[in-house]
Amino acid sequence: EERLQKVISVQNVGVLFFNLDGQMHDANGALERLSGYTAEELSRITDWALLTPPEFMDVTRRAATELAERGATAPYEKQWIRKDGSRFWGLFSPTRLSGSGSESECVEFTIDISEIKRAEEQLRLHRQLLETMVSHLPAAVALIQGSDLTFQMVNPGYQAISPGKQMVGKTIAEVWPESQPLFGQRCRHVLETGEPLGADDERYEIHRYSDAPLETAYFSWSMRRIHLPNEVKPGLLLTIWETTARKKIEMALAERTSLLSGVLEGTTDVIFVKDLNGSMLLVNAAFAAAAGSTPELLVGKTDADWFPPDVAAAVRQQDEAVMAGESPMEFEETLPVAGKPRVFLTLKAPLRDGSGRVIGILGIGRDITDRKRAEDKLHRLAAELSDADRRKDVFLATLAHELRNPLAPMRNGLQIMKLTKNNSDAAEQVRAMIDRQLSQLVRLVDDLLDVSRITQGKVELRVERIDLKTVLAAALEASRPAIEEAGHELTVVVPDAPIFVDGDAARLAQAVSNLLNNSAKYTRRGGHILMTVWREDGMAVVAVKDNGIGIPPAMLDRVFEMFMQVDRSLEKTAGGLGIGLSLVKGLLEMHGGTVEAMSDGEGMGSEFVVRLPVVTSVIAGPQRESGESIGVVPSAPRRILVVDDNVDSADSLAQMLEMLGNEVRTAYDGEAGIAAAAQFRPDLVLMDIGMPKLNGYEAARRIRQLPSGAAMLLVALTGWGQEDDRRKSADAGFNDHLVKPVDVDTLIKLISGS
Ligand code: ADP
Repeated sequence: EERLQKVISVQNVGVLFFNLDGQMHDANGALERLSGYTAEELSRITDWALLTPPEFMDVTRRAATELAERGATAPYEKQWIRKDGSRFWGLFSPTRLSGSGSESECVEFTIDISEIKRAEEQLRLHRQLLETMVSHLPAAVALIQGSDLTFQMVNPGYQAISPGKQMVGKTIAEVWPESQPLFGQRCRHVLETGEPLGADDERYEIHRYSDAPLETAYFSWSMRRIHLPNEVKPGLLLTIWETTARKKIEMALAERTSLLSGVLEGTTDVIFVKDLNGSMLLVNAAFAAAAGSTPELLVGKTDADWFPPDVAAAVRQQDEAVMAGESPMEFEETLPVAGKPRVFLTLKAPLRDGSGRVIGILGIGRDITDRKRAEDKLHRLAAELSDADRRKDVFLATLAHELRNPLAPMRNGLQIMKLTKNNSDAAEQVRAMIDRQLSQLVRLVDDLLDVSRITQGKVELRVERIDLKTVLAAALEASRPAIEEAGHELTVVVPDAPIFVDGDAARLAQAVSNLLNNSAKYTRRGGHILMTVWREDGMAVVAVKDNGIGIPPAMLDRVFEMFMQVDRSLEKTAGGLGIGLSLVKGLLEMHGGTVEAMSDGEGMGSEFVVRLPVVTSVIAGPQRESGESIGVVPSAPRRILVVDDNVDSADSLAQMLEMLGNEVRTAYDGEAGIAAAAQFRPDLVLMDIGMPKLNGYEAARRIRQLPSGAAMLLVALTGWGQEDDRRKSADAGFNDHLVKPVDVDTLIKLISGS
């Protein structure tokens, strides 16, 4: 009894005494606490349905039947309804008390298992959640176990990676034969060391289905070791997720980016993108180079960070106009680059977001400074050209006028000779006049030829070391008649010591004489001309000054241009072609010298200052023969053939040569010339080049082929005196080349030399 009481009073096991007919008659304190009923109250309950939830009535009845038949039941679980209506889970274990007073008396032990049940339920829920999660994971999760690395478990996500493949129960060597060695190694490493492994975006060539073509795919994966309950050996949890789509987008993006940066960095155009506030979102290398920085440093900055405020403000105004107008605009703007102004042609267009809203501005600018310069130069050249063209027209008119001037008195002279019928006095006067006019004509033509040769760079200087004073003497000699004729007073101031220069004496004299002639021409009768010579800073200076009509300031530089004449009425009477000064300038520049015009304006006189480099060493170069006239010296008679299609020219030359005591024949075309040469066998042939039937070159070649031809002296006589013409006649076999008109001295020299 005492032992029984101890058992019954146990704290956490409920004890209930009842009969097989369901009559309860005692309960211990633990059951009272569990059920909320007192033993007394329980003994009054006859309907067990009060204590048993409907869903547990069956179990309860089965237990009662079993109890009646077998005397005990296995412990079973069910819920009880407490007095307050709430429920608790209990583990119930009823037994019949055999040996007690009544055969039908039973006892039931009850343990509260609500907590366990709750924990179980929680566990179940967790498990369910986990399973749902794993099965819906877009990744493949697999459990691998065993030394042969067998798939124990895979989630449905595996289907995405290896669709249609049966994996559970297979080894990784069976599932992935190609990648197995490496993969197996990794698995074993993780299994042995416990170190987790993983990688991103590994590239594989896979067959997505067994009969699908091979394709490139990318996978990220991770592996970790896990210890499973009831398993001695650890397993491996493998997670794999495919990243092909992302990787492909990334690669496409990278490709586009590199393409774009290729365009951005490959161009010399400056490219920029600004936001609404003018902050740079993107600039290319060309832009950065112009701003003297790098693209990275410029992002986030504004134009005000590198341009002066006024420029930055102007640029900002353009940007705002483009963004407000919402359409592209083109600007030609001058911007400072490395402190120097450069001209840019910039196209600016509004930048829009996906919805079409303007969010900034895109600009592409091209540095067109060089192009602009070339264009400007072209415009300037065109203007100069049309100016030169106009001057050429004026020149042609002047030329006609200037040529007519000497021609008129010459024709008059001939008339006089005709009228006076060989009156030798009158003839002598006329002869002198014609000679003068002719010299004037020849000089005019010489000047023309010279200036064209200088502009073509075809003048050859015979440079020697000379005393400038001899040059000045020659120039004075040439100009004195003009000065005296105009009644001017001439003063010459020259230092005693010689001034040596390297140059062509005749050409320098020609230049100085041109200046003296101009002074004589552009000074009213009875004026003063002053020529001064001195040394200054290693230069010989020759100044020719007059008190003539002067030159307007705007014309001071321009008078040296070809065909340039100051438009004044006096000039028309003064004559000239407007080439003298360009000749002077050209000649001096060829000598490394300069010429400069000075004048206080019209009516104030003019001064021309020539500067030439002085040589300090006096050791003279080879002296040239003095150009002294030989004078008419009769020579031994020669057989001379004159060939020219200009009959007058041929005949007059023949006549002159005959008068000098030679035997002369004439022919008037190339063929006749060859025939005459063959028959007459001259010592000397003077032959024109431009002739009908056969030109001079060809005729010369044929004459050279005659039996007697090799020994003849062949001299070309033409109006063309260029280097090229001389070379051509030399090629044709001419010994010499003379330019018409040939003066008598040259002819005599030729005849006596032949
Ligand atoms: P030209 O004398 O044949 O016209 P130049 O080339 O020698 O040509 O001179 C160009 C122009 O310069 C002249 O037409 C004349 O207007 C002006 N000029 C030259 N020398 C003088 C001078 N000493 N005084 C005033 N004007 C001059």
